[in-house]
Amino acid sequence: MSGRVFLVGAGPGDPGLLTLRGKACLEAADLVLYDGLVNPLLLRHSHATAQRTCRVGGPGDRHLDQAEINRQLIDAAKSGLTVCRLKGGDPFIFGRGSEEAAALAAEGIPFEVVPGITAATGAAVYAGISLTHRDHASAVAFITGHEDPAKPESAVDYEALARFPGTLVFYMGLHRLPQIVERLIAAGKSASTPSAVVNRATTSRQRTVTATLSELTEVVQRARLSPPSLVIVGEVVRVRAQAKWFEDRPLFGKVIGITRPEDQAETAIDQAVAMGALPVVIPAIEIGPPPDISAVDAMLDRLDQFDWLVFTSVNGVRGLLLQLWQRGSDVRKLGRCKLAAIGPSTATALEEFSLRCDVVPDEYRAETLADALVPLVKDQRVLWARADRGRDVLPERLKAAGAMFEQVVVYTNRDVTELPAAELAMLERGELDWVGISSPSIARSLAKLLTPAARQHLGARTRLCAISPVTAAAAEEVGLPVAATATDFTWDGMFAAMVRCQ
Ligand code: SAH
Repeated sequence: MSGRVFLVGAGPGDPGLLTLRGKACLEAADLVLYDGLVNPLLLRHSHATAQRTCRVGGPGDRHLDQAEINRQLIDAAKSGLTVCRLKGGDPFIFGRGSEEAAALAAEGIPFEVVPGITAATGAAVYAGISLTHRDHASAVAFITGHEDPAKPESAVDYEALARFPGTLVFYMGLHRLPQIVERLIAAGKSASTPSAVVNRATTSRQRTVTATLSELTEVVQRARLSPPSLVIVGEVVRVRAQAKWFEDRPLFGKVIGITRPEDQAETAIDQAVAMGALPVVIPAIEIGPPPDISAVDAMLDRLDQFDWLVFTSVNGVRGLLLQLWQRGSDVRKLGRCKLAAIGPSTATALEEFSLRCDVVPDEYRAETLADALVPLVKDQRVLWARADRGRDVLPERLKAAGAMFEQVVVYTNRDVTELPAAELAMLERGELDWVGISSPSIARSLAKLLTPAARQHLGARTRLCAISPVTAAAAEEVGLPVAATATDFTWDGMFAAMVRCQ
């Protein structure tokens, strides 16, 4: 039985610039081989083993042996695996994707190629440059800057490029920029042609410099730009002044630690990226299955006996309702039960099951939820779907109010024993601007996980943002200084608080 290979364009960096087909391929894969330009955030769309095949940073982003990569693709597919080969930008634009496809074809291995947004269009659009602006260009050329223009056998014809009636875009050209500029001007291209270099395009680290062609080399050297960078030469660069947008995003360039468990960080990651930030996932807790699933099942079997169901987290909602489904039942079992949620995210989680909340307090805290429920629960049967740890405000207050109160543990909430090494190193170097803390248990766990080297940046280089006053108080209690607290108790609310505090 033979497997197959998807050659997929990953886009230029922004993880939102993957195609829907590309995402489907990642979801279907057993093995992902990705190159040095691919944003590792894309790997969250896959459950497969993932392996990087290439280093970045060196001149021309040197690939590890192409024959070896081809071999790996072929061997994996022959052993029956579905392989996703993820390549930066578009797989067929300066990407050697066609060589990989040919190697697969030669072995009779079924493959599919998924185009991607190539660096030229990604970089130009995110820098506010229209490559074919009708007032300035009637054509665009994608050129490799990797070849030495001084070599007589160079395949790049600089005389033709100087006469070309449109925009020139050089890939892999940064390390040869002086020679490229020199050859273009020598071949007759005007020294005053507007030009730009876009570095790390479409990511929160994007940097764009502009200059006339003759001054470009010096400006780039002064800005100390490094690969990957793209060189754009042409009158169209003028339009950047009016169409610049990406670099003006509210959290552009900020590096933000997301402390949620990895499989639940998705929305926070997407929101951070949408605001121009670089999300760094540093999960401080992990969510696991309940210690006793039979206790959950027993409770589910008599769910229709309750008057109220109370939820204090998204995990509580999913823990209870997904198990209800697993058990062969569905939400009709909730009967005439009324529903209470502690805050907007928990309420949204219920909406995903087409359930509307009867009570959501204004403030995201157990006390406020208890205040809202106390007048309603006398002689009522109340069930709380909870974690194995947390505060006991609800049982105390609701029992005192005359409720017949029961609880069931539908998930566990554990401290992780260590932070991922690369991310911890970033914290220790003071590279994070913000860390968002979205619950008291995360605050307490984080306090134990931070090394002295990481701690020294807190409050100075790295600031902490809490999702609510309760979480802020929990953080302060364990010695974590909170610089901002959300007024809307969601990750969106935290990002808004960070923007206010810049
Ligand atoms: N297949 C890729 C190109 C691979 S060649 C594509 O379609 O985009 C590698 C070159 O692409 C780099 O040297 C650089 O010139 C350019 N490049 C790729 N990603 C980039 C990015 N995010 N910002 C600027 N240039 C990028």
